[in-house]
Amino acid sequence: MDRRSFLAYTALFGSSIAFGMTEEFDDTIVRSGATRTTVSLLDKLNTVQDRVGYVQFNAISFDEMLKVAHYCNKPLNQSEIGYIEAIFYGDPRRYGFYGERTVPSLTAVTPKSDLQYISKTGHFLLKGAAIEKYTSIKKLLGNDVILTSGVRAPVKQLYLFMKKMVNEGGDLRATSTSIAPPGFTFHSVGDFDIGKAGYGQYNFTERFQETDVFKKLYDQGYITIRYTSNNPFGVRYEPWHIKVTGGNETA
Ligand SMILES: [Zn+2]
Repeated sequence: MDRRSFLAYTALFGSSIAFGMTEEFDDTIVRSGATRTTVSLLDKLNTVQDRVGYVQFNAISFDEMLKVAHYCNKPLNQSEIGYIEAIFYGDPRRYGFYGERTVPSLTAVTPKSDLQYISKTGHFLLKGAAIEKYTSIKKLLGNDVILTSGVRAPVKQLYLFMKKMVNEGGDLRATSTSIAPPGFTFHSVGDFDIGKAGYGQYNFTERFQETDVFKKLYDQGYITIRYTSNNPFGVRYEPWHIKVTGGNETA
């Protein structure tokens, strides 16, 4: 790890990652260090996604990802792995994200036998409570409702987080307002997103609340908002997110 990146980790994650000294949070260092690493990581993760396909990439484990990257001649270096570990195991409250941890280990594997592919969506759902909820939602709304995002293992969440981070110029605080860091998303443990068919990107805006799909689901009690507007967790309000697992009951 070069000195600049090292300083970025120290500034961000403090004594748990570096040697017991607490640096001031220096946004400039964080931005420059983070941007360079995220761009190269994003390139490698894109290569892995191209190789395994969009669907399988949603559920790929960290170890599988490392193997595929190596096979594609884009192995992750120690500095990049260190950076991922710092994001995954570091305390996100340092950059304003207060959601709870959902996955204890970066190398956690979701057994393929626990997953069910949802035809034509590109996404998996976890068997059990998530499938039951999705099935009853489909029964209520039929083809008007679509699954827009299902299971996201830590690697997929890392990829989305890196993508957003590059767009935000390496600003972790801004990034984590709209997407949870890997290890902190309920998509890894059962939650999923739904939308109105044909509504495209509006499904991920507050306009979704104006749709019949949202109103019907809300009236029938299917939508329990995990992160309400002005929630104390530093996460944006997401009316399209279907809560399946426990946690943040008071949010
Ligand atoms: Zn969601």
